[in-house]
Amino acid sequence: MKKLKQKQLGHWCSYCEPKTTRAGYVNSGVVIKYSCDEHKGQLLTEEKQEQERDQRYTEADNQTWGRL
Ligand SMILES: [Zn+2]
Repeated sequence: MKKLKQKQLGHWCSYCEPKTTRAGYVNSGVVIKYSCDEHKGQLLTEEKQEQERDQRYTEADNQTWGRL
């Protein structure tokens, strides 16, 4: 998760009601999401979950290839 720079501001929070709150943070996932201060914890949690999921896929791939 990264804090948006001044020139990057202008996005809306992905968790608040549409077009109510400007975002201050952006995740680093495949699906880009923005969050305000209030929702940055949620954004971080989803980002971690996504990373763990990716890791599991990689492990499964390794096991598949290991059997061949
Ligand atoms: Zn929000």
